[in-house]
This record gives sequence, structure tokens and C-alpha cells, in this order.
Amino acid sequence: MILFGGTFDPVHRGHLHAARIAGAQLSCTIHLLIAPRPQLRPPCAASYADRWAMLQLACQPDSTLIPFDFETSVPGPTHTIATLERLRQTTDENFVWILGSDALMKVHLWYRAEELHERLSFFVFRRPEFMTVDLPQNFLHCHDACELLQRPGLIYVSPSPMLDLSGTKIRDMRKQGKEIESLVTASVYDYIISKHLYEPKDSC
Ligand code: ATP
Repeated sequence: MILFGGTFDPVHRGHLHAARIAGAQLSCTIHLLIAPRPQLRPPCAASYADRWAMLQLACQPDSTLIPFDFETSVPGPTHTIATLERLRQTTDENFVWILGSDALMKVHLWYRAEELHERLSFFVFRRPEFMTVDLPQNFLHCHDACELLQRPGLIYVSPSPMLDLSGTKIRDMRKQGKEIESLVTASVYDYIISKHLYEPKDSC
């Protein structure tokens, strides 16, 4: 099972591009797992309901992308390892976690980080400001992405170029009154405009 976790505040073309590349390489559908109450970062600018609505809209045209709200019913903070333990009750598949190299730098801060290598493998995308990739404790590099499907404890670093795009960039552009239409899908753009998201009064 392939999971791409994020705040999706908002979901943008960079996320979709990355998810499609990973899906094509692994020949799998990708579950885009929304974080209801993100940790290790500032609170989201948009509400959970708006972020979830946008994620559903963005994935809707592509049957290989599955919006996934598995953590939403969990009260309090959510932890990846606890989510995987709950998911283990539903599937015998190995877990592959997709993330950017910016997020990989913080993996050592995750709850029970020292156990992660027993539970999942990582598919990593290089983000422009984080081009070097340091391995978290106990993980091994692999050179064929499909190995990730066989066992936990591996990291594959994709050579594919990513779009230089982030939620932060989109929110900042909206604050400055700049056009973001090309950076998100048409349906997400319409949603942002109709709900006045990320306009100066909404930003944190
Ligand atoms: P923010 O700027 O608010 O932190 P973000 O765009 O980085 O947002 P998140 O939803 O917080 O997005 O991140 C979800 C995951 O998507 C992270 O692992 C992040 O590294 C990855 N990601 C975000 N943007 C891209 C991109 N352009 N290319 C590849 N991966 C990306």
C-alpha cells in the first residue's frame, strides 16, 4: 500500500506530479493521506473541511489517486506509526511512504522514529531547497523502486525532477494578490476562489 501523507493546504500540481510518478514506477494506486491536525509545523491556513474538499476535487479525475481520510477519526495527535498499526488490521501489503526530501529531514522527530524501519519503506523526491538526502537511522538505500514493495526499511530516491511548487508558495502568492491558476487543478482553483481561501484575512 502506497501512502502520500500531507497537509494539502492546498493540494497542488507538485503533489499530483509526484504521486503520478511514484504510481507509475510502482505500478500502484496512491493513497493521499490528509493530516487532520498536522504536527512539527505551524497550523494550517485553511480548515480541515476545505483541505479535504480540495484533495477530493484534485484526485477525482484520476482513478490512480485516492484521497484518504483514515486519520480523521483519530482524536488528538496522529502518528504515522500508529496509523500503520491500524492499517495493518486491514491489509497484509508492505507500506511505502512517499515524501519530499524536506519532510525526510524531520523523520527522526517522528513518534517512535527508531521503529519506523520495521514498518515502512520510503519513496523520496528531492525538493529544490533540499537536494541532499540523509538516510534516517536503520534505513538502507535501494536502486530499484519496486524493491520497496518487498520489505520495510528501504529508501529509494527518485531521480525525476519535481515541480518547484509548495503550499507555502501558493499561499504567499494569494496573499500578494498574484495569480495561482496554473499551479492547482481547475476544480481546486474554482474552490479557492469561491471560498476566498488564502486571501490576507484568512492567513495565519
Ligand atoms: P507547505 O509549503 O505548506 O509545507 P507542501 O506543499 O510542502 O506544503 P504538504 O502537504 O505539507 O505540502 O506536503 C506533503 C508532502 O508533499 C511532503 O512530503 C512534501 O515534501 C511533498 N511535496 C510538496 N510539494 C512537492 C513538490 N512540488 N514535489 C514533490 N513533493 C512535494
